[in-house]
Amino acid sequence: MHQEPDLTGITVDTSAPALVTGATGYVAGWLVKGLLDAGVTVHAAVRDPHNTAKIQHLLDFAEKAPGDIRFFAADLLEDGSYSEAMAGCRVVFHTASPFTTQVNDPQRELVDPAVQGTRTVLRSADATPSVERVVLTSSCAAIYTDAADCAAAPGGRLTEEVWNTTASLDHQPYSYSKLLAERAAWQIANAQDRWRLVVVNPSLVVGPAVNAQPTSESFSIVRQFGDGTMRHGAPRAGLGAVDVRDLARAHIAAGYLPDVRGRHIVSGHDTDVLELARVLLPRFGDRFPLPRRALPKPLVWLAAPTAGLTRTFVSRNVNHPWHADNGKSRRELGMEYRRLRESMEDMFEQLVERGSVSPGK
Ligand code: NAP
Repeated sequence: MHQEPDLTGITVDTSAPALVTGATGYVAGWLVKGLLDAGVTVHAAVRDPHNTAKIQHLLDFAEKAPGDIRFFAADLLEDGSYSEAMAGCRVVFHTASPFTTQVNDPQRELVDPAVQGTRTVLRSADATPSVERVVLTSSCAAIYTDAADCAAAPGGRLTEEVWNTTASLDHQPYSYSKLLAERAAWQIANAQDRWRLVVVNPSLVVGPAVNAQPTSESFSIVRQFGDGTMRHGAPRAGLGAVDVRDLARAHIAAGYLPDVRGRHIVSGHDTDVLELARVLLPRFGDRFPLPRRALPKPLVWLAAPTAGLTRTFVSRNVNHPWHADNGKSRRELGMEYRRLRESMEDMFEQLVERGSVSPGK
């Protein structure tokens, strides 16, 4: 378990520091580790640099790696907040953005930090002469909302040409926040020509966390596989999945390969919720109440409100396959994706080791 991001074929420039926003996060953790191991000085922007519980793993990485780390306090909702952290950096990795579906006020809790934060970070890039490239962690959510959208895409597969036209504050507001943030990013990037914007669009991120208490929504889904919530079955709701270590490599490739441009779908597997759980059966099926069969759509539709799902979500995702073209990421970022079973087993095993999932809990 815990293999490093494979940086074969990428020459990482260690002569200038790189900024990582949201360095405490699940996705950012592996990215920071990859940069430190490559010898980069990382400027880690976090909300609270004094919260040692949230940054200790990054300090531990830096101690063992050739690269150094410096922490800076920054908040997506404060103008100019990232300027100090960005000073002297050549590459900026903007990963910070709230990823949760449990919100009361989607405008304030999702859209404002995603969009204002992206504007704040990119305007600082405009004002920081050392910056040559900004890598934005967008999402496949900026490309589609529901699996049903895949069928409407040209050739039935999502590509980098496709933009989300169906999310709103009322329907999948997280996807809406990512769409608006990526649009804002391109608007700012296209108004200048000193630095280049490169966008990474991951599907659902899976795999082990380096941070001790991951809050990313990725973990809520996988916890439910083991705790009995889905003992009677899981919906065949189509989605894509990518390993967090592969995604770290994609970011580093986007930051340092000379010829990368535009958006990149970073997704290893076209899959669905049931399949994500089923790959865990050979190793964990005898100890945990993992879902084994597909829940009939009418049943999911009826139970939707009690499971925290909307009926529109059920109609437009359950029994709709998900297809995306990851060819550009393979060709231009040199991506090779690890097996889904490896990612899911490593993630689940870590949850078991940490006591975050136990049968019947
Ligand atoms: P995460 O672990 O929850 O990380 C989110 C990060 O954003 C945290 O570092 C968090 O800081 C920071 N953040 C949130 N609100 C902030 C604010 N107001 N000011 C400053 N920082 C703030 O989630 P993740 O899964 O790693 O997500 C990282 C990025 O990947 C996001 O852009 C997300 O949209 C994108 N993404 C994730 C997935 C996935 O499946 N996980 C898929 C596609 C794209 P704190 O630690 O202080 O809360």
